[in-house]
Amino acid sequence: MARVVILGAGIAGHTAAMVLRRTLPKEHVVCVVSPKPDYNWIPSNIWVGVGRMAREKVVVPLAPIYARLGIEFIQASATEIHPAGNPNHPGPYIVATPTTPGAATESVEVAYDWLINATGPKVRFDRTPGLGPDGGHTHSVCTDRHAVDAATALDAAIQRMKAGERQTLVVGMGHGTCTCEGAAFEYTFNVEHELRRHGVRDLADLVYLTNEAELGDFGVDGLVIRNGGFHTPSSVFAGSFFAERSVQAILGAHVQAIEPGLIRYETLDGVDHEQRYDFAMLLPPFTGVGLKAFGAQGEDITDTLFAPSGFTKVDADYTPKPYEAWKPTDWPSTYRNPTWKNVFAVGIAFAPPHPISRPRTSPRGTVISPAPPRTGMPSASMARAVAENIADMILGRATEPERLSSMANMGAACVASAGSGFWAGNAVAMTMFPIVPDYTRWPGAGRDERFTFGEVGTAGHWIKLVLHHLFLYKARAKPFWWMVPE
Ligand SMILES: Cc1cc2nc3c(=O)[nH]c(=O)nc-3n(C[C@H](O)[C@H](O)[C@H](O)COP(=O)(O)OP(=O)(O)OC[C@H]3O[C@@H](n4cnc5c(N)ncnc54)[C@H](O)[C@@H]3O)c2cc1C
Repeated sequence: MARVVILGAGIAGHTAAMVLRRTLPKEHVVCVVSPKPDYNWIPSNIWVGVGRMAREKVVVPLAPIYARLGIEFIQASATEIHPAGNPNHPGPYIVATPTTPGAATESVEVAYDWLINATGPKVRFDRTPGLGPDGGHTHSVCTDRHAVDAATALDAAIQRMKAGERQTLVVGMGHGTCTCEGAAFEYTFNVEHELRRHGVRDLADLVYLTNEAELGDFGVDGLVIRNGGFHTPSSVFAGSFFAERSVQAILGAHVQAIEPGLIRYETLDGVDHEQRYDFAMLLPPFTGVGLKAFGAQGEDITDTLFAPSGFTKVDADYTPKPYEAWKPTDWPSTYRNPTWKNVFAVGIAFAPPHPISRPRTSPRGTVISPAPPRTGMPSASMARAVAENIADMILGRATEPERLSSMANMGAACVASAGSGFWAGNAVAMTMFPIVPDYTRWPGAGRDERFTFGEVGTAGHWIKLVLHHLFLYKARAKPFWWMVPE
């Protein structure tokens, strides 16, 4: 009997748990440790954040699903990993703090034979003074509850405009090292759509503030999109959208601090600026969730499992090297920790070898460039591969992970909604292959033009809506859920 423990029940962890449960016979235990009672389909938080979707439509209670599937569920926040056990606990185990309201809060120890870390990011609002909804002055759509609060604040701004007051709305990145530019882009255009729907667009100054040096970088070094017979750089593709919707862009910006009504930021040329705002939704930078690791004698071995960023070290090439020397093979393909062979990390939890976008610093040494995104589709794909590899090794079908799932050999589809509503909705739909460009294989653009294309229109909105329902159907483990691809 083997015990597989999965930390986190987001896109990656939930996928891994369901695939493992479906693949392994019942004598093997699949156990999920996660602090929240619900699964959150984060991509649709954008619609919650503009008040077009109820919070209840983007969350799914986990306990009934796991009870039905035969997956153990411990509602707790993991704090420590003991990969070598210790004299009191001979096998590997994790320590977690229960988070069920009203329940005991003493730490629990959970033994494992195989461990998948899928804890996603820690949202670091604390990295920028005044950033974020909890004690800061800005809003966020990173969680379903943040999105509800953002929608309330946006509505208040809209009501002020309806009363004739001009408003400045700023959407973007709250720090020079943020990732998830696609989500901020998407929220910007959903806000713009709502302003028009409410008939107040003429009273709004809408600003997109980003750490990207160019529009359309999206943390993947930009892309050359095939569209209507043309090969269009994403800077032009995205730029035309900004021009069409009259959204002002502030590029290459590191937000230093936020005061009520004022954002202070530095740009790539090292100059300080100020931006006034009445409503701001700025995403935070991410780190790992801060798990510690201990050896058999209680010694701190956190650095064997985790990079300084707190993300888990896997089979990537972490040798520091300049942009020009980056190679697709730097990217991991099995997501296995090199020291502890029964520990894996998927989704945002794995430590990338380096960014994908060209790194940039201001003359003052401030890093202002996107961290690499790990979006839903790759997160779920690598989770499936790792789950199937672990199942194969448990069942004796393999001795090493055989299914490889590198972001340098994987495509992604991104549908950035640009406004909700069945007929009036709009979206920018893009696909790319691979996610990590390979300039040797595809000189110039770094990606295969046959699979890197984009389109803007209402059909994209319908696709986004279909994906919302499809992925929530899958998350609920309804009949034939496994036929829904990642
Ligand atoms: C606003 C927004 C919009 C987005 N839109 C899109 C989109 O349209 N398309 C797309 O592909 N991607 C999108 N993304 C990115 C996508 O949400 C992420 O790629 C995806 O959520 C990553 O999955 P994950 O499982 O690694 O992390 P998460 O989904 O964040 O899951 C992490 C899990 O770990 C749990 N956890 C945290 N700490 C601990 C702990 N200490 N112990 C145990 N468990 C823990 C969390 O509660 C959660 O269950 C968006 C992101 C944001 C913020």
